[in-house]
Amino acid sequence: MQADLVIVGAGLYGLTIAERAANELGLKVAIVDRRGHIGGNAYTEREARTGIEVHRYGAHLFHTSNEKVWAYVNQFTGFTGYVHHVYTTHNGEVFPMPINLGTINQFLHAALTPQQARDWVREQAGELAGTDPENLNDKGIQLIGRPLYEAFIKYYTGKQWQTDPKDLSASIINRLPVRYTYDNRYFNDTHEGLPVDGYTAWFERMVDNPNIEVHLNTDFFDNGEFGKAATVGSVPVVYTGPVDRYFDYAEGELGWRTIDLEEEVLPIEDFQGCAVMNYPDPDVKFTRIHEFRHFHPERDYTKDATVIMREYSRFAGRDDEPYYPVNTADDRAKILKYRERVKAEKQILFGGRLGSYKYFDMHMAIGSALSMYENKLKPHFAAGEALVSGGVDE
Ligand code: FAD
Ligand code: UDP
Repeated sequence: MQADLVIVGAGLYGLTIAERAANELGLKVAIVDRRGHIGGNAYTEREARTGIEVHRYGAHLFHTSNEKVWAYVNQFTGFTGYVHHVYTTHNGEVFPMPINLGTINQFLHAALTPQQARDWVREQAGELAGTDPENLNDKGIQLIGRPLYEAFIKYYTGKQWQTDPKDLSASIINRLPVRYTYDNRYFNDTHEGLPVDGYTAWFERMVDNPNIEVHLNTDFFDNGEFGKAATVGSVPVVYTGPVDRYFDYAEGELGWRTIDLEEEVLPIEDFQGCAVMNYPDPDVKFTRIHEFRHFHPERDYTKDATVIMREYSRFAGRDDEPYYPVNTADDRAKILKYRERVKAEKQILFGGRLGSYKYFDMHMAIGSALSMYENKLKPHFAAGEALVSGGVDE
């Protein structure tokens, strides 16, 4: 196929660009992905023995307050009424997450009112109360006080990021709400749910257009019809792989975190009674256990077996799948240099979690892709405007 647009990566960012370009502009689009499936890290499949839908790269919960993104995704899938709740096992006792009045009262064996709980946290936060720290450690103590921080955040974060919380951005902890009510919904967003027929059915509908060709098991950096050498400079490219890899690590390797998932099928109906159980204590090596049947209580799954995954976190080497940007001060200095290099590239746009080195959730990846399409690709293809290369899409 002679493509008008080549997309590297069949994750949600690449799929959104492909869907818009083919369905709205009628362009011929080639997507390459080095993996054997579409959907990137949000890919799911049915576990062979049980038929339970498992999330191959870790549990993915869709949530958004962005009406434009919500309307967009609803063209391809309906969503169940699933509302995410997480529990955490500390010192052999189970607490609700994120930290809420229930967590605080259970932790203190008390019956504090919302105001009393606020006063207690303020007291524990000591000298950091009322400040706005930039690093995760100080931000965590400021938000919930030292005792709760040490029980539920400090070691979990240490296991998850393998970086001193003092070197991590406060924005990571800002993802988690703290509530002085008994509301223990994990997310604050207006819309939430899981795709009714699974993630993969959703993604397949996005690329269900004869003008979209998907080339799986195809690495952009191998020489091929849609490889880097054959495409960049000749045809517009949207690249959603790791930005440091594109430039052959010329400014040094960016810090990425990867995860290892240990799957087990157990001959019981229910292992833990909830979808996600966190383990914040330092003596347990994994960070959390996912039990997938609980994501779809509406489905008629077998009662004879259940599928769990233990999640372990570690730094990614070059041969690992990069999942989370660590984003230390050193990384931030490198990413600025990569962004300068991006500006000098011709006919190629960088986006997505890996291409922009940003901790995007799914709705953010989709929203960012829609902006790139509207602001850069559509003016180029529909109105003949020059394709301004560079400028990592924010
Ligand atoms: P990706 O999904 O990473 O897709 C990039 C694709 O590019 C991959 O398929 C990769 O194979 C391909 N690629 C890379 N290099 C090359 C190359 N050289 N050649 C060809 N192909 C290449 N978001 C939520 O909203 N809710 C959640 O609960 C949630 N949980 C998460 C849990 C985990 C463990 C992780 C890692 C992420 C989670 N996310 C969650 C975030 C979500 O995965 C991302 O927002 C989303 O995947 C971003 O899409 P993307 O297209 O930018 O990147
Ligand atoms: N976190 C924690 N304890 C928990 C849950 C989360 O310390 O029980 C911290 C941790 O630093 C984590 C961040 O809050 O990286 C964001 O949590 P989230 O569940 O959003 O992480 P993700 O789903 O992206 O892995």
